[in-house]
Amino acid sequence: MVDLTFFFFLLAAIAIGWLLGRRSVRKKVVRDDQQQTLAQSYAQGLNYLLNERHDDAIDKFIDALEVSSATFDTHLALGNQLRKRGEHDQAIRVHQNLLARPSLARASQQRAQLELARDYIAAGWLDRAERLLQELVENSSELRNTSLEHLVEVYRDEREWAKAIHAVNLLHGRRFKRLSAEWAPIQAHFCCELAEEAINTKDYLSARKHIDAALGYDRNSVRANLLWGRLEHLLNRPREAIKVLQRIPRQSPDYIPEILELLITCYEAIGDEKGLDRYLESLLREHPSNSVLIALTERIHQQQSEAAAAEFMGKQLALRPSLRGLGHFIDLHIDSTQGRARENLSLLKTLIDQLIASRPHYRCGNCGFSGNQLHWLCPSCKHWDSVRSVKGVEGE
Ligand SMILES: [Zn+2]
Repeated sequence: MVDLTFFFFLLAAIAIGWLLGRRSVRKKVVRDDQQQTLAQSYAQGLNYLLNERHDDAIDKFIDALEVSSATFDTHLALGNQLRKRGEHDQAIRVHQNLLARPSLARASQQRAQLELARDYIAAGWLDRAERLLQELVENSSELRNTSLEHLVEVYRDEREWAKAIHAVNLLHGRRFKRLSAEWAPIQAHFCCELAEEAINTKDYLSARKHIDAALGYDRNSVRANLLWGRLEHLLNRPREAIKVLQRIPRQSPDYIPEILELLITCYEAIGDEKGLDRYLESLLREHPSNSVLIALTERIHQQQSEAAAAEFMGKQLALRPSLRGLGHFIDLHIDSTQGRARENLSLLKTLIDQLIASRPHYRCGNCGFSGNQLHWLCPSCKHWDSVRSVKGVEGE
């Protein structure tokens, strides 16, 4: 499909270029043949455009429209349009062409440099973008903050967490002071990334330091508390782990399924079975979810009987029907049935399992990206904390 906006934009760019060219040659009373060449170039560019040969039209545009203070914005805007359309190589060519003109004013060169860095980010050439942005941070007071914001983006995608933290601090001009409501949770995530790396290498001292830093930026960080709980568990301190994990449902009930396994392990480690039951019951009352319901049903099954567990699950399903609950309910009945009924229940269970497997468990509230894994940073729209477990009959 022809992109009309872009078509008209290029058309206008070429027409403006042609008019500017005519004016400048008139002023300077340049030879007729030069004016002729210019007119030919623009006619050819227009021809390419009409035949939807955008690449050739852009080549013609770059070759023919002289870069000057009068045409700078046209060049810049054309490059930006190309980047928005995903034509990264072409955008890079247009912006590189601007940067290669030493006659341009310094401020204009820096604007072209910023756009080129944005092209590199869009094309995934992060190291090139990083170099250009670092130069701008050092040399342009006007573009410093915008460049720093892009640098944070680059370091995030390169997983250079310490550098990202440093760039955010530079952006705010002070270390360990209160960040804005927009940046504090992001900075906490960067600290959590470092804490996760430290936990993976069993460097628990550093992990604690990074978790403390994360909570210093954002004391409601669910991820920091989850990591703190994991750390306490790894250090064989189940009571402390339970205390920390129990903060999470108050901070954000959406993350209850993420804490359950570890919480149950820690309660079992201290042998407080009754305490665990009471806590799970309170969770089910205050923030009903299938993960808690199934965990509680499993405990009734272990402590009492299959029949008691099935009765409990049946009552809960009547209040809050769900596929996962139904699957578990059938599981509890299969063992006590025989013959044809057992076969039918098995078939039903297989179908429900297939239905559950075909549905995503997590979805991004910002862009709709879905999958079966919890991402703190949405892989699609790059928003933090927007991916949550799916609710309703098919989800939690
Ligand atoms: Zn998203």
